Amino acid sequence: ILIGMVLGIITGFLFKALMGESGDFTLTAGEFTFSFKGFFVDGIFHIGGQIFVNSLKMLVVPLVFISLVCGTCSLSDPKKLGRLGGKSIGLYLLTTAIAITIAMTLALVINPGEGINMPSSSTFDAKQAPTLVDVIINMFPTNPINAMSSGNMLQVIVFALLFGIAMALSGDAGKRLTAVFEDLNTIILKLVTILMNIAPYGVFFLMAKLFSYIEGDLIVKLIFYFGTVLLALFIHALIVYPVLLKTFTGLNPQKFLNKVKELSIFAFSTSSSSATMPVTLETATKKLGADNKVASFTVPLGATINMDGTAIMQGVATVFIAQVFTVDLSFTDYLMVILTATLASVGTAGVPGVGLIMLAMVLNQVGLPVEGIAIIIGVDRLLDMTRTAVNVTGDCMVTCIVAKSEGEFNDTVFNDSDAGKEFE
Ligand code: ASP
Repeated sequence: ILIGMVLGIITGFLFKALMGESGDFTLTAGEFTFSFKGFFVDGIFHIGGQIFVNSLKMLVVPLVFISLVCGTCSLSDPKKLGRLGGKSIGLYLLTTAIAITIAMTLALVINPGEGINMPSSSTFDAKQAPTLVDVIINMFPTNPINAMSSGNMLQVIVFALLFGIAMALSGDAGKRLTAVFEDLNTIILKLVTILMNIAPYGVFFLMAKLFSYIEGDLIVKLIFYFGTVLLALFIHALIVYPVLLKTFTGLNPQKFLNKVKELSIFAFSTSSSSATMPVTLETATKKLGADNKVASFTVPLGATINMDGTAIMQGVATVFIAQVFTVDLSFTDYLMVILTATLASVGTAGVPGVGLIMLAMVLNQVGLPVEGIAIIIGVDRLLDMTRTAVNVTGDCMVTCIVAKSEGEFNDTVFNDSDAGKEFE
């Protein structure tokens, strides 16, 4: 996968250099014109990458539903289920709030927006941030099939939980269905493994396409913004997570980081915590040693509500945009940013670029010009990839803490550096 990523990036840069200013390289023979952009970049790379991402997404709804029903059904103790929910939601919210606080503090020290004068013309539509009441009500589907078909993960999670609980309480009927669900679970996990075999090619195509288009000069202009977000992401992933993991579980953070390397590359290339979810689940169970009972609950939940990396971007971007437009934010405004960003991350699923939509809500909330997003949108793709890697690392970290505290953690798997290799 790593080789696929590096080769993809190199290929992308080569194509970019070859296509030059005009954005294409053509060969003409008589009437016939062969376009490198059309054939390779928008053709082969695009098709290969898209098929890969689509196949990952295809697994998400069935995987979440089936594994969650199996997980809940085996946790027949309702108290345990409540504890699991409380702990994971609490930790997810806590890490998001820490992330955004680090980001804003760093941005206030570095001042990435000072001296930048970039009038923007394009506009960006801001939706209202969801209220807490809306978020809670919307978790309950009126139509579970509709929730599945539109990929509303929070609703799918709630339905699966209720279904699993009912199954556990249904005696013989429940037992018969449990056997069926367990078989389905084995099959769907097999499908994940099969897909993993084509992952290196998928990652190659995604990277090659993306880097054929990358705007290097924009990054130079916005280097302070770009750098501040990256720095905050690294601090969060390499300092905050290890410290939390060590404090709550005593596990070796170095080992943890080694084991989530592949997963991060995956998240980096797909830019979507939802699409990466099948891999996050395999990493949490087969490599890190969390029991499937816990992971099948915390991972889908995390892929939906936990976005620390995204919160970091929003924190830095808010301060940056306020500085560019010379607007002074009060302390209450900053608190508002933390609250809105955290709520918005609960209500929106992890797909590429969704962070910008959430940012629009945050800016709206504190009265900053939403068109400020137009300034940073050009460099957002690379940051999106990096923050998605942080998002999924956070899901795994919380899964380890919850599993360990519930006694559903296998230390032998965690300490075995070869664990889970077969699924790579
Ligand atoms: N792409 C991110 C994710 O899926 C969300 C975002 O920050 O845009 O986790």
